[in-house]
Amino acid sequence: MALRVSQLASGYGKLQVLFDVSFEVGKNSVVSILGPNGAGKTTTLLTVMGVVKPWGGKVELGGVDVTNVPPHKKVELGISLVPEGRRLFPEMTVEENLLMGAYTKRARGKLADSLEFVYSLFPRLRERRRQKAGTMSGGEQQMLAIARALMSRPSVLLIDEPSAGLAPKVVSDLFRTIGQLRSEMSVLLVEQNVAAALEISDYAYVLENGRIVLQGAPRELAENDHVKKAYLGV
Ligand code: ATP
Repeated sequence: MALRVSQLASGYGKLQVLFDVSFEVGKNSVVSILGPNGAGKTTTLLTVMGVVKPWGGKVELGGVDVTNVPPHKKVELGISLVPEGRRLFPEMTVEENLLMGAYTKRARGKLADSLEFVYSLFPRLRERRRQKAGTMSGGEQQMLAIARALMSRPSVLLIDEPSAGLAPKVVSDLFRTIGQLRSEMSVLLVEQNVAAALEISDYAYVLENGRIVLQGAPRELAENDHVKKAYLGV
């Protein structure tokens, strides 16, 4: 198992947001956590990274307990987050943003190889490598946010809501590329766009009010009455 999260609990101050959240991401697979606004999807990713401290439960990366390892050390161990809202450096060029993602020991020795990897994955970024990030389209900025996270050479990539604010055609192109990543690594995707996420996932979980309420293969979930009504509009 690439990533195993067991009975995770966390929150902010006295507010508990996650309750007993358990899920697994296999090697070379794409797994989604789906759910509405405020369900705790972002909090799940932040707690896995250690940006938000776990109150209880366990996070294992490749079988190693990393529950209390701080975020920068986790990146060194091979897990990387594409944050909600992309968080690019808008005044820096595409390539400068990419280099910012390669600050770990793990990544520094492989810079040229990593640039080639992300540019072949997203040829648009190669064309735009000297353009300021802030002047690119929403879809291009999302590609850049993913590419920057890949520069740390993760074995597990966490992606928060990549479809946010993008047109359907842009989402389907982007998701196709995210799906291709599974030949190189494991991907945990958090999404409100349930239809798009199910299309590229090997397995998915539904998070509501901080709890996993359903899980299954995409085809099973797409047939589930609750999923159909609440998320697929059918
Ligand atoms: P969205 O898609 O809107 O980001 P989400 O499923 O990712 O939703 P979270 O962002 O994890 O949900 O938020 C879960 C709950 O935690 C919400 O009730 C939110 O108000 C609360 N919350 C999030 N961040 C903080 C914070 N920094 N301080 C206090 N409460 C927070």
